[in-house]
Amino acid sequence: MYVIKLKTIIFYVAVLIISIVLGAVGFRFIGARNAEPAAAAAENETGAVRLPILMYHGLTKNPDKVNAYVISVNDFESDLKYLRDNGYTAVFMRDVINFVENSGELPEKPVVITFDDGFENNCEYGLPLFEKYDMRGLVSIVGTYTESYSQISDENPEYAYLNYDMINKMKDSGRFEFANHSYNMHMLPGMKGNDTGRKGAAKLSGESDDAYREKLTTDAELTQNMLGDHCGITPEVYTYPYGEISKAAEDILSGMGFKATLSCFDKENYISPGNPDCLRCLCRALRDNKRSAAEILN
Ligand SMILES: [Zn+2]
Repeated sequence: MYVIKLKTIIFYVAVLIISIVLGAVGFRFIGARNAEPAAAAAENETGAVRLPILMYHGLTKNPDKVNAYVISVNDFESDLKYLRDNGYTAVFMRDVINFVENSGELPEKPVVITFDDGFENNCEYGLPLFEKYDMRGLVSIVGTYTESYSQISDENPEYAYLNYDMINKMKDSGRFEFANHSYNMHMLPGMKGNDTGRKGAAKLSGESDDAYREKLTTDAELTQNMLGDHCGITPEVYTYPYGEISKAAEDILSGMGFKATLSCFDKENYISPGNPDCLRCLCRALRDNKRSAAEILN
């Protein structure tokens, strides 16, 4: 009697576990199919690798300045410590592109650390911590911001943007690569200087395909040229301002030579060799002042 009862319990527990596992897997496939970015690699594709991408903006030592887009240096250091202690290896997008193009390997638990907008504090606070924890990452530069701050000598970590010298210093450290975050399209409707009401680099409603192509190309080229001329950098990654995406943009940006684009969709990525489409509109998780890297990655 006791034996039968035990067997029955084991049977039902096994059924329950199998249901939970199948349910979770099924849910993730459905989620991936419905993902906004068109071309994420499937989790079960041959050789597919999970690639979490963390999105940071500013870092501060001033507790009054902390918000969703500026986190404390201590929180940032805790994230790096967590990554190191849990077997993650920070990789460049260049490494990710190589992997997809079948010309390089990725470590076992890769993670991409990104900083948007190009704040001075990424250099002042981020660089020493990257050296301490053996990390690397990508900074997305807004052309007009870096150009303006390269013309004045204001290096205040509370609000300044990276100038050419700092970008060169970060590049020479071997710990940073740089992406194009537009030249002058880092704006939302209602912001000063936004005469057309455009959202980031997205197409306006009613704008012709040709006009949009001309606008986006001209704008992105200005930042490419600026970083090329002053820092010897040719970004291969385009980071959509405010994550605002138009279908037409992908075609234009890949035609310009951008091998990967970054969105702000908060989903996991799976990338696989031989599938360049999986580099389009990669998803990223915003690391704000409330959700740590540990919470994002678990
Ligand atoms: Zn931005």
